[in-house]
Amino acid sequence: MKMVIKEICLGSAMAVVVFLFFVGYNVFPLLVLGGLGCLLYFLVEKKSGWSGSQHSFYKGSDDFSFDDIGGQAPAKQELLEALNFALHADKTAKMGIRPLKGILLTGPPGTGKTLLAKAAANYIDSVFLSASGSEFIEVFAGVGAQRIRQLFRSAREQALRAKKAGAVIFIDEIDVLGSRRGTHAGHMEYEQTLNQLLVEMDGLKSDDRVKILVIGATNREDMLDPALLRPGRFDRIVRVDLPDKEARLQILKLHCRNKPLAEDVDLEKIAGESFGFSGAHLESVANEAAILALRENSSKIHQRHFQEAVDKVMMGEKLDKKPGKEELYRIAVHETGHAVVGELLRPGSVSHLTVTSRGRALGYMRQIPENDLYLYTLDYLEKQIQVFLAGAVAEKIILGSQSTGATSDFRQAVHVARQIISAGLSPLGVVCEDVLPEKLFHETIQGIIKKQEQEVEAILLPRAEVLEKVAQILLDREYISGAELRAFLEEANTVH
Ligand code: ADP
Repeated sequence: MKMVIKEICLGSAMAVVVFLFFVGYNVFPLLVLGGLGCLLYFLVEKKSGWSGSQHSFYKGSDDFSFDDIGGQAPAKQELLEALNFALHADKTAKMGIRPLKGILLTGPPGTGKTLLAKAAANYIDSVFLSASGSEFIEVFAGVGAQRIRQLFRSAREQALRAKKAGAVIFIDEIDVLGSRRGTHAGHMEYEQTLNQLLVEMDGLKSDDRVKILVIGATNREDMLDPALLRPGRFDRIVRVDLPDKEARLQILKLHCRNKPLAEDVDLEKIAGESFGFSGAHLESVANEAAILALRENSSKIHQRHFQEAVDKVMMGEKLDKKPGKEELYRIAVHETGHAVVGELLRPGSVSHLTVTSRGRALGYMRQIPENDLYLYTLDYLEKQIQVFLAGAVAEKIILGSQSTGATSDFRQAVHVARQIISAGLSPLGVVCEDVLPEKLFHETIQGIIKKQEQEVEAILLPRAEVLEKVAQILLDREYISGAELRAFLEEANTVH
């Protein structure tokens, strides 16, 4: 309809211009004016967004459900309960429960918040519109607020067109538009946009023809304006966490559904090795494994492809860096130091070590996390520091000097030492870090690290021979598996 009116107006204007031209009128100024008008119209249309099909529109079709999301059981359960309120609005209204207007999903990126919102839209048979908080922030005052109005209008129109009773508006990175008012000094635009969102949400009623549910996603709940979290707006907050081992396995299985897996694939092992990975990382692991298999012209994906995919997602792409022979030997000694100490402190934990450059690392040793741990003891943290320091200590023992290769190891060791102090596990006992003199803080970190360095020296000095031998093998072969390393250590034990 809008298009037809536009065309009629344009046609009539042109006819008038042609008529004036024929009766001898100077139409040049009119043409310039018309051109400017068109340009202005185009700019405003473009800036105000949602007039066309710029937003993603997901038809609440049957092809996406909560079953397609791995893990996240508590989040799904909480979300489902909230959605059931929306689904059985009559029942809840009878009980005097006010309608649900907004749900906030909070958690790290890549954990499936968008997927949950899509599944939610499908569950309550609604159309799905998604936008990102940053799309509403413009330099032009009022444009963000106008976009919010259009987004809600568009949600209603699309739901009616698709003959759905509801619409889910998903706003990703809602903290960008919904951060505390007053934090953006001198920027009224943010406030106008947020105010408009609040107005739209307050205007949602249970007897509206189209029921709109707003789902926001953020990783920074603490940044949000308290007005957004007030009852009647986003009053359901659902936490979407990084997946635990069981959930990682489910996610991997979901993403391997359409992939030809070889007999030797052990997804449970991969799930165990990928502690800290989000769903998006795991999707990437499955995808990269398939790409690696294809590169080798293999018709099936093997466990080694998955192993390498984990390395790639964790550390980055393999690099073509070719250090000289001497440097490469130093890298081999360094990684062997990490691996020997890692294996001795936690037998069976080393997955593999290599001198292939990947991402920012010239070589690396990967340890399999014990189990998903959420609390760490002092013993655990000290052993972690020992593994970090082992590379530099090995260099010192075998080559007589250290190198800059240990810089990031030291940074990590200092980070763990800080954790020890913060948790009250250092010789200082429980402290208030805010008033702890910097000098004392620094000396305590140094003390913790020095002590662990001595422990590592005590482990590696008597094993200099095996250290050298394994480093040499690593230099020749580029890669040593955990099982091979264990065999070398065993052999060294029986010889002595
Ligand atoms: P977020 O919105 O939390 O940043 P997304 O929902 O956009 O994350 O997830 C990005 C991608 O990661 C998805 O397209 C999917 O492939 C994968 N993914 C994330 N979480 C899960 C999960 N729980 N189950 C299956 N796949 C997931």
